[in-house]
Amino acid sequence: MTEFKNFIGGKWVAAQSGKTFESHNPANGELVGILPLSDASDAADAVEQAATAYDKWRKYPAPKRAELIYRVSEILRARKQEMGELLTREMGKVLPEALGDVQEAIDMAMYMAGEGRRLNGLLVPSELPSKWAMAVRDPLGVVAAITPWNFPIAIPAWKMFPALVCGNTVVWKPASDTPVLAERMIQIYEEAGFPPGVVNLVTGPGGAVGDAFIAHPKVRLVTFTGSTDVGRDVSMQAAKYLKRVSLEMGGKNAIIVLDDADIDLAIEGILWSAFGTTGQRCTACSRVIAQQGIKSELLDKLAARAAKLRLGDGLLATTDVGPVINKKAVEKIHEYTEIAKREGAIVLVGGEPATDGDLAKGSFYKPTIFDNVLPNMRVAQEEIFGPALSVIKAGSIEDAIQINNSTNFGLSTSVYTSNVNKAFEAMRDVTTGLLYINAGTIGSEVQLPFGGTRGTGNGHREGGGPVVLDTFTEWKTIYVDYSGRLQRAQIDTDALAQKL
Ligand code: NAP
Repeated sequence: MTEFKNFIGGKWVAAQSGKTFESHNPANGELVGILPLSDASDAADAVEQAATAYDKWRKYPAPKRAELIYRVSEILRARKQEMGELLTREMGKVLPEALGDVQEAIDMAMYMAGEGRRLNGLLVPSELPSKWAMAVRDPLGVVAAITPWNFPIAIPAWKMFPALVCGNTVVWKPASDTPVLAERMIQIYEEAGFPPGVVNLVTGPGGAVGDAFIAHPKVRLVTFTGSTDVGRDVSMQAAKYLKRVSLEMGGKNAIIVLDDADIDLAIEGILWSAFGTTGQRCTACSRVIAQQGIKSELLDKLAARAAKLRLGDGLLATTDVGPVINKKAVEKIHEYTEIAKREGAIVLVGGEPATDGDLAKGSFYKPTIFDNVLPNMRVAQEEIFGPALSVIKAGSIEDAIQINNSTNFGLSTSVYTSNVNKAFEAMRDVTTGLLYINAGTIGSEVQLPFGGTRGTGNGHREGGGPVVLDTFTEWKTIYVDYSGRLQRAQIDTDALAQKL
């Protein structure tokens, strides 16, 4: 058993209060680590150290910053199996998915390391002679990253690699359910050779550590991924200080299955999207919107397959679906089953915690399907964040898209159809940030933007693509006049035209 520490200014230190908390394996309750229960004073120390390190770090050439990030990717690749196993132990997802989580961080590190030799600005012609017009990206300063437990390696990577390559320094508060993974990750940054203070870690409750980061005057950007309720709070607090806030929040994602779909392909996509990661992805499919002609056959086949999914410890090769994150999550999911029944939905499979044999030691909920769901029911509108799927009937593609678009979230949609015109209709009319045609709602790649509309995000994009640089930099527009005389934009241009 290991006791861990905060990483502040390049040193491993206990919480100033000396208090600790524990992290447990959701599959069996095993103790995974003991961590500092930090508070506002630890958070403030970390920000001060990050602010001190910033001035040197921002002047260190971007290609050299990128080399350190690339080194992280190499160490992570060498430790992929070990990190994946730890991820399954601390967070619960089955090992192949845990390895995928680590791989996504490797991908992001390689992608952002490449940015070290790009970080493109803008260079445009000036309207005046002998004048240079350009815009460059400046780092922001200290970036506070507040991250969730469901992608404990990949999501911090989405935030920290772009922040660092752009020249920012980072203070990181990981989720209290997966702090040991954060510790291991920081050990890798240290090994890669990041200078002291450039990357800092403070574990402890969101309300204490997260809030202290948000309120600290030297934090310039808060990059948050988590639930919509907490994200709204983060945003409201940060607004008081006029801080930039990038929010990635909840989802209520749907798979639309049209009558002309390849039904077996759709079933594979639904099972993977709804029950993969035990339904605990922000992009997890929690609604199937089935056109009336295909719904009955789809549902029969889907229910039969879902009932056969094997629950268990994610490290076992025989496990299809791992635990949910903790006992509180089991209770929350079950509350939604009760709500669904009260609202008139029918529980087709699952609908209860799984407690047979060894499962009783962990936090397991049976893969669950609700039929007869209407678009305005709570189980069709609210994020459940577990293995629970609501099935809704639609008359037409227009009807299906309207139902899809009618929640307060806007992250991911998928449409199964064999008709190219309908696929394009969906591409035009779906209003979520991600759309998949003939594939499930999950499975983003780092070279494209990731994020959502409405209650899912606040307009920034993280997770990938060159646009992430916009979140982590400030534009500085620079004009250089080398004419040696006063030249007036918008005024002297007329005189110039007359001279031609
Ligand atoms: P959460 O409860 O909102 O927590 C997210 C992070 O915020 C954690 O580090 C948490 O710390 C911290 N936090 C809690 N209260 C805070 C406060 N008052 N001030 C500042 N920070 C605070 O979310 P979660 O349960 O970890 O993650 C699941 C949610 O994340 C789901 O809603 C899911 O959809 C969403 N998610 C979204 C995306 C996306 O890209 N859109 C990706 C993944 C997950 P503690 O752990 O100490 O409470």
